[in-house]
Amino acid sequence: MVIVGAGLAGATTAQALREGGWRGPLTLLGAEPHRPYDRPPLSKELLRGQPAELELAVDFAALDIELALGRTATRLDVEARRLETDGGPLDYEAVVLACGALALDLPGTAGLPNVVTLRTRDDAARLRPVLAAGGSLVIVGAGWIGAEVATAARAAGCAVTVVEAGPHPLAGALPAEVAAPMAGWYAEAGAALRTGVPVTAVRDGEVELADGTVLGADAVLVGIGSRPDTDWLAGSGVPLGEDGAVLADAALATGAEGVYAVGDCASYPSARSGRRLLTHHWDNALVGPRTVAATLLGQSATHDPVPYFWSSQFGRYLQYVGEHRAGDVLVRRGEPGGAGRGWSACWLRDGALAAVLAVDRPRDLLQGRRLVDRRAAVDPARLADPDVPLKSA
Ligand code: FAD
Repeated sequence: MVIVGAGLAGATTAQALREGGWRGPLTLLGAEPHRPYDRPPLSKELLRGQPAELELAVDFAALDIELALGRTATRLDVEARRLETDGGPLDYEAVVLACGALALDLPGTAGLPNVVTLRTRDDAARLRPVLAAGGSLVIVGAGWIGAEVATAARAAGCAVTVVEAGPHPLAGALPAEVAAPMAGWYAEAGAALRTGVPVTAVRDGEVELADGTVLGADAVLVGIGSRPDTDWLAGSGVPLGEDGAVLADAALATGAEGVYAVGDCASYPSARSGRRLLTHHWDNALVGPRTVAATLLGQSATHDPVPYFWSSQFGRYLQYVGEHRAGDVLVRRGEPGGAGRGWSACWLRDGALAAVLAVDRPRDLLQGRRLVDRRAAVDPARLADPDVPLKSA
C-alpha cells in the first residue's frame, strides 16, 4: 500500500488503515522534507510568534508505517500498478492519492524572493521574519488566508494593505449582506483594505493596481486560493475534473483500478448537496480517511460529511457549517457590531437549516451542525432571536 502525500489526509489514512487491520507494507510518501504537520497554525499561531503544535500526533514507527519524506511521485502507471518517484519506482497493490492542494499564485511571480504564498511550513518560515521585523506587507486577496495573515501582521505592528478584486472581503465565499461588515474588521485592526480594484501586476515587493496605484512593501503575500496538486497525474488514466480534482466516488475510489483519493486533492459526489464537492477544509481531510480506509479494507463506507471549517481573524472565531446557495433565505441571529456576544448568519432552504456562519457563537455552530445534518425545519422568527438556543428554533 502506498499513500502519496504526507499531509493530514495521507497520515490519517495510514493510521486508519493500520488501526483497521491492514497488515501489509505501508509507505507514506511526502514531497516535503518535514514530518507530517498541520497547516491551520501556519497562518495563525506560527505567524503570530505563538507556540504551535504542528506535528501530527501519529506514532508512525509504532504503527510500522514507512515514512518516505522529501520524495515526490512523478507519474502513475495504473496498469502496471507502479508509481514513479524522484527516488525510484514503487510497485503497489493499492495507491491512495492524498496529494493535497497548491496555493494559486499570480503570473510572473515564481522565484521572486519577496513575493510569497502560504501553503507550507517553509512558506511560513519565509514570511515570519518579515512580521517579526515589523516590515510592511501588501496582501493580495481578502479571503481566509489574507484575513488571517493581516491579523498576525497587524499584531506584529506591520503596515498592512490588503487589495481585493471583489467588492468585499470573502467575496468568493459569502454574499455581500453577510461579508460587507467584515471590511470594518480590517479598519479596526489598522489594516488598509482596498476592494473592487484588480491587481494588474506583481513585481518583487511591489503591486500595481488597475487604477494605476503602485503599492510598495517589504513583502507581498498572494492569498488568492488553492487548487488540487494533481498536474503529475495528467494522462495517467486517473479521472480528473476541470478544477483539477481527482474524481472520486462516494467510497473514495477513483474508478482507475487500485487507485483511491482523499482530502484536498479529491472531489466526491455529495448526496446531501446533490452535486460533486471539492472542499479545501481540514475537517474533510480528517474524516475522509475513515472512508477510504474502510473501502480499502473491503467494508462499505460513504464520504458525505456536512462541510465544516473555521477561521480565526481579527480577534474573532468564525465557523461555518453546511452549504448555502443563491435563493436560500438568510436569517440573522444578532447583529455585527452588537453587544459583544457575536452573531450568526443562517440560511434556510425549503424551511430547513442549510448552513450557519457563526462569529464568536460556537454554540450556534455546534447545534446548527446537528440541525443541518438532519435537514431540520426551523421557525425563522425563533431562529432570528439570539436568546433562543438554535436547537430550539
Ligand atoms: P495537504 O495538507 O496539502 O497535504 C498534501 C501533501 O502532499 C503535501 O505535503 C504535499 O507536499 C504532498 N504532495 C503533493 N504532491 C505530491 C507528490 N506528487 N508526491 C509526494 N507528495 C506530494 N482549514 C480549515 O478548515 N480551517 C483553517 O483554519 C485552515 N487554515 C489553514 C491555513 C493554511 C495556511 C492552509 C495552507 C490551510 C488551512 N486550512 C484550514 C486547510 C487545511 O489545512 C487543508 O484542508 C488540509 O491541510 C488538507 O489536507 P491534505 O492532506 O488533503 O492536503
